[in-house]
Amino acid sequence: MNENRIRKLVIVGGGTAGWMAAASFAHYFANNGLEVTLVESSEIGTVGVGEATIPAIRDFFHSLELDDFEVMRATQGTCKLGIEFKDWSRVGESFFHPFGVFGSPARDVPFHHYWLKLRKLGDGAAYDEYSLAVALARQNHFTRPDPAPRSALSIFDWALHFDAGLFAHFLRDYAIRRGVRRLDRKVVAVNLRPADGFIESLTLEGGERLAGELFIDATGFRGVLIEGALHTGYENWTRWLPCDRAVAIPCARIGELTPYTRATALEAGWQWRIPLQHRVGNGYVYCSQFLGDDAAAATLLGNLEGERLADPNFLRFTTGHRRKFWNRNCVAIGLAAGFLEPLESTSISLIETGIEKLRRLFPDRSFNPALADEFNRSSTLEFERLRDFLIFHYKATSRADSPLWRECHAMKIPDTLEHKMRLFRTRGFLVRYEWETFSDPSWMALYTGFGYLPEDYDPLADYFDVDDLRRTLAGMRQNIAATVALTPTHVEFIAKHCAAPDLPMIRPRLTA
Ligand SMILES: Cc1cc2nc3c(=O)[nH]c(=O)nc-3n(C[C@H](O)[C@H](O)[C@H](O)COP(=O)(O)OP(=O)(O)OC[C@H]3O[C@@H](n4cnc5c(N)ncnc54)[C@H](O)[C@@H]3O)c2cc1C
Repeated sequence: MNENRIRKLVIVGGGTAGWMAAASFAHYFANNGLEVTLVESSEIGTVGVGEATIPAIRDFFHSLELDDFEVMRATQGTCKLGIEFKDWSRVGESFFHPFGVFGSPARDVPFHHYWLKLRKLGDGAAYDEYSLAVALARQNHFTRPDPAPRSALSIFDWALHFDAGLFAHFLRDYAIRRGVRRLDRKVVAVNLRPADGFIESLTLEGGERLAGELFIDATGFRGVLIEGALHTGYENWTRWLPCDRAVAIPCARIGELTPYTRATALEAGWQWRIPLQHRVGNGYVYCSQFLGDDAAAATLLGNLEGERLADPNFLRFTTGHRRKFWNRNCVAIGLAAGFLEPLESTSISLIETGIEKLRRLFPDRSFNPALADEFNRSSTLEFERLRDFLIFHYKATSRADSPLWRECHAMKIPDTLEHKMRLFRTRGFLVRYEWETFSDPSWMALYTGFGYLPEDYDPLADYFDVDDLRRTLAGMRQNIAATVALTPTHVEFIAKHCAAPDLPMIRPRLTA
């Protein structure tokens, strides 16, 4: 065993990021002699939002040997097939970004070229009519994908909505059962080693010193270690993603228990709706240049579907990321690392990949800089890819009814996104970079949802006779409709598999 190995890991912060990291390191390093201490301050609290995820969250559960349903029961969780984007391309129009594929490719030609060909010939079926996940979502149905690759049910994926506070508690219990030491104390000073500026210890309220070898900064927007002590610097992306505020208000559920998140574009930003078993999470993400806090809260209150269950929670943020995610012996995870607005529910997935990268690149006490360099290189790319994906939503809109949308439509975008858009526009070619979170079907959902379509399709799509092609595509649509008819509603699915022990919202509705 390497005598230089790290023995003391200190995590500062007990939000989603801190407890996900604690749970993961406690699990993976169980027999490695790694002592994990987590310091959090109940006086400061957590950000209190972050309830919609992407399918990667389920890989995280499985990595901890947790069952999806166990987590859902503990967190008032619901199923998520994707996101409905309402009023984004134009007011009155909506489309889905589902987790799953559209149609099937043939002869190495992606499906969308066949669809484009028939569209050019005047056929009217929308692209999302070839997605099982969209068909399930539209009918508020849900079932789990079938792992058998040839099954009609193998072509989609799913994620969760959960109560962020309950999720952190669930992971806290998991981590503490595996030996993580928890201190409810405020960090009041970070003590650096004079020789090289590495973090040596933390001073806690009351004067106690807590020494460590590797530190994870999970202190949220504060970035107490990575910025407060190490002055790492921040890459600001507000010029592309100008929203810098949010207000969140949970409410009682009146509407359907939808198996999807809804993001509705508004005049100065957009509103989320996240259905949980016991309530609905709502928030308005907006641009302070065009809207004040009171007006944003009033708009959100006016849009709530049921009785409000808490006071408005106002949040301020700057989109971007730390210049280094790993600086000296400190690794930032979660909001301390950077922020991208929750339009595609990606922050928690960035926490997962941050934890996974650190696990794979875990240093010893010599802290070989190659490890940090790779962590920083890959994390920067991952953030940039997601940034481009988000920017596309603002750039591709045809809305011109308010200053925000007009400015976004006219803005100069990053070269990486411009290259992608140009190649797609010309011939339907999908560019895939290293460290993309979202793959081709997700880009296709956006391109078609915003009506950003190519001038031409792949000539190889001309291989099939047009009537045969029409019959095949009609068959795909029929298969989807037949499959959906066999599935339960979302409410029935939850009641059967993963209802939380106290179900004030779901039981009456089931019998209604
Ligand atoms: C408006 C909004 C909506 C969001 N929606 C989504 C979403 O739908 N999906 C998604 O994936 N993500 C979403 N996110 C992001 C998500 O909320 C975060 O990624 C996630 O909650 C992790 O937060 P965190 O643990 O990094 O920080 P926090 O929750 O802020 O936790 C910080 C922790 O640090 C502790 N702390 C701070 N200072 C000190 C100190 N000096 N001493 C001791 N402890 C300290 C606090 O007590 C707390 O425990 C959203 C974010 C915002 C702002």
